[in-house]
Amino acid sequence: MDNIIFTPHFTLLEFTESATARKHGIDNIPMPEVVENLRRLCQSTLEPLRMALGLPVIITSGYRCKALNDIIAHHSHRSQHLKGQAADFYVGWSAPTGGRGQSGDCCPSPRERLIKAFRLIITDETIDYDQLILYPNFIHVSYASPEANRHYIMVAQGNGRYARVSRDAAFNIN
Ligand SMILES: [Zn+2]
Repeated sequence: MDNIIFTPHFTLLEFTESATARKHGIDNIPMPEVVENLRRLCQSTLEPLRMALGLPVIITSGYRCKALNDIIAHHSHRSQHLKGQAADFYVGWSAPTGGRGQSGDCCPSPRERLIKAFRLIITDETIDYDQLILYPNFIHVSYASPEANRHYIMVAQGNGRYARVSRDAAFNIN
């Protein structure tokens, strides 16, 4: 499968690579409409987040074909990962590059970086999203379309349970 550059910081293969898929002999090759959904997710959510954050956004799971989604625990069969509308990520670390999320504070922890990203997605006007879920070590975010985006904010409670939180309550989570 050829790679496709979606935006300055994201390419197709970051969203299709899966150690689990390889282990199980699953190809995980997206259809063209899935590729276009991934492109929109990058353009409207992930790239604006990357720019605001000024730190690497590391995709741990993007597109999941049905065979792959079936063997991954934390999402149902209706998962937006099946459509290329969702990605899971954590925030890496590099020398600050002057993104708007960088306030000069040195060496935030992985959790602090994740919370910074979580708050930016909620508040930054350049970032749109459909559903945002905060997990202890990563964030799940999806993008549908400007008309369909629901702006749901949830916090994973463990045991497959989620708590829906308001925008204000979400901003106070740390
Ligand atoms: Zn996810």
